[in-house]
Amino acid sequence: MATNKMDFPQIFWDSSRERAELEPVTETDCACAPAGPSDPQSAISHPPSAGLWGLPPSLYRAPLPNGHQLAFNPVGPAGVVVLNGPAAHLLASFATPAPLADHTARQLAALGLLTPTHAMEYAKRYTPHVLTLWLHLTTRCNLRCAYCYAPRGDADMPPEIGRAAVDGAIRSAQAHGFQALKLKYAGGEPLFNLPTLRAVHEWARARAAQAGLELREVILTNGTTLTLALLAWLRDEGVRLSVSLDGLGPAHDGQRVAASGDDSFAATARGLERALALGLTPHLSITVTAHNVDRLAEVVTFALDRNLPFNLNFVRPTPGHLNLAPAPERLIAGLQAALSEIERRLQSATSTLPSAICHLLDRCDFSLPHHYPCGAGHAYIVVGPQGELAPCHMKMERTVGTIWEEDPLAAVQGEDGFHNPPVEEKEDCRECLWRYVCAGGCPLMAQRHRGTPAAPSPYCAVYQAILPELLRLEGLRLLRDRPQAPAPEPRSVISEDPRSSGRPAAQ
Ligand code: SF4
Ligand code: SF4
Repeated sequence: MATNKMDFPQIFWDSSRERAELEPVTETDCACAPAGPSDPQSAISHPPSAGLWGLPPSLYRAPLPNGHQLAFNPVGPAGVVVLNGPAAHLLASFATPAPLADHTARQLAALGLLTPTHAMEYAKRYTPHVLTLWLHLTTRCNLRCAYCYAPRGDADMPPEIGRAAVDGAIRSAQAHGFQALKLKYAGGEPLFNLPTLRAVHEWARARAAQAGLELREVILTNGTTLTLALLAWLRDEGVRLSVSLDGLGPAHDGQRVAASGDDSFAATARGLERALALGLTPHLSITVTAHNVDRLAEVVTFALDRNLPFNLNFVRPTPGHLNLAPAPERLIAGLQAALSEIERRLQSATSTLPSAICHLLDRCDFSLPHHYPCGAGHAYIVVGPQGELAPCHMKMERTVGTIWEEDPLAAVQGEDGFHNPPVEEKEDCRECLWRYVCAGGCPLMAQRHRGTPAAPSPYCAVYQAILPELLRLEGLRLLRDRPQAPAPEPRSVISEDPRSSGRPAAQ
């Protein structure tokens, strides 16, 4: 008699390198939060099976189609996990603590969905392995964006300062045990200082290799001046491209106007099409404000149609500027409209998603627990045109030393630096289910809004409303992309997401 594979427990989860490293698929202005282990498998360990095991206090579960269930322990190592009916039933049985009696129970424990009753549950801390260096190549820009926080003027970073910044960052990387250096070429419009961009790139490539550091580079541009020759250079040199695109037509132009007063969307769109024609995959950095929030779905559709990765970044109000933050209910509605576009794609068996769902949303990541919302003060150095240091690109007005310090990272971590507390120090976040996903949000914004970086994000209500929806989408993705197992053996099927792991479909 044929065996119905739904009779046996099945578990799906994503063990991709991107999920565990947390870092490479997001290209926003902000520094990534201290990242996870370079070996994704090290996040998942097989626990000893002795003693009684029960449901973790922070376990989140939600139904998925056809009797499947989404399970997520924000304190655990596995991100979103999808269980079929029998596996969900087995998990539920641990409401009464019991020993790990079989293979499936041990797998549930390895994925953090069961915890020993004799031990406290805690989120593992990972050592950051990527040091990010923001190079403010110029204060010049051809746009006048409504939310721009960057210093404006006509100062260019000379090549020798760019090279010194790389050397300083390498000294810090070695002193603090980082394995990789990530350069963010920024401004102003960094493409207005091509001599320094090229000089720093050459220098960094040689120096990082000498130091045994992996080098990653990305240019953060408004995309209006991208020529074919420059794009070919970026492609050939392996420099990634992140383009700010906030909407289509007026939704973009309303907040990203040219210094001349002209619209900028057409020029940015032209730059993107050129990049695509040359085989590049630009990342889209979408800043969400009260101006474009109602038309977010359009720009998300634009990204999905072209298979371009993107992030939705919430505007950070800047002192002295108009506050463009949308009201929470409008922001939630705009995000829901954008997410329904993603869900629509998930209903097709063949459409791909260019971005990892786990870090689409401003400062949030549910691939592994995060104690910090960003790398400020931990794994991030910002360097101004004259070599001045700052802990965050939004705090360049207050410098804390120069790139010629022996250890520039120590300088931005010093008393004059900006305090970026771990979420455990945020009293109002400590008990929240999402504390290791958003880690309390941008500390600078909390400081400006509530007078302390230890306050929850002003976007807290939005995180709380949208995160369950994002988790559900990730569950649907795992379910859609699950391996189609052959006739099952009479044991459980434990499958990693084949899109990322490249492993056999079923074990
Ligand atoms: S900011 Fe809000 S959603 Fe995030 S951890 Fe704090 S209370 Fe939770
Ligand atoms: S402090 Fe805020 S603006 Fe600065 S890097 Fe962190 S999240 Fe971004």
